[in-house]
Amino acid sequence: MTNNRTQIVAQILAALSSAARPSAAAELLAVSKGQTAEAVADLLAEGQRAFGENRVQEAETKFASLRQSHPDLRLHLIGPLQTNKVKAALDLFDVIETIDRPSLVEALGKECAKRGRQPELFIQVNTGAEAQKSGVLPADLPALLAQCAEAGLKISGLMCIPPLEDEACLHFAFLAELAKRHGLGKLSMGMSDDFGTALRYGSTEVRIGTALFGSRGQTQSGDKDAVRL
Ligand SMILES: *Cc1c(COP(=O)(O)O)cnc(C)c1O
Repeated sequence: MTNNRTQIVAQILAALSSAARPSAAAELLAVSKGQTAEAVADLLAEGQRAFGENRVQEAETKFASLRQSHPDLRLHLIGPLQTNKVKAALDLFDVIETIDRPSLVEALGKECAKRGRQPELFIQVNTGAEAQKSGVLPADLPALLAQCAEAGLKISGLMCIPPLEDEACLHFAFLAELAKRHGLGKLSMGMSDDFGTALRYGSTEVRIGTALFGSRGQTQSGDKDAVRL
């Protein structure tokens, strides 16, 4: 199994440098959905530590033993989270990037209070206001942030998946503006096709699947948030 981590890392560093940003300003999240545990192990051997999965169940199966052997591995949930999977998600993920609605904030707030700790959290913003896509509408972001604060949940940043048919840079600039307005330091934006652009607009985390691993199997075809398959 081969992957393109060396090239991708070089491209990230070049994009950061041309944007006059420090080389540690952004991290590579390896999106391993639809990939095997062996492919993940190969990347771990090359030093990759941050991985993104969009389904709780798939991540549980794939990472159970990898987590034991690599305690410094960091797992991010980048797909929609159902409230009945909150406990399982908290058991598994270090970062949840897809907070997007009041019922989820309520469930997470309760469970995190019970545990006395919370994972790193991002709010997903539906910057294109697409009916079929997850994410809070930009107009509803202030209320959701207020609810998070009330529930004792600290939010680190914002995440978006721009509409396929739009210029991604408009959405990246918009997300960066929203984060700035609310004093949030992190921006999860940019995927295989547009991570260079995202880094110019201030991305602190690029989520890269296909450019890293090659194409995925057909397992994601029914996913409403699946992108660029
Ligand atoms: C699948 C996925 C990615 C990775 O997309 P690629 O185009 O394969 O790099 C990034 N973010 C989210 C939310 C995804 O679901």
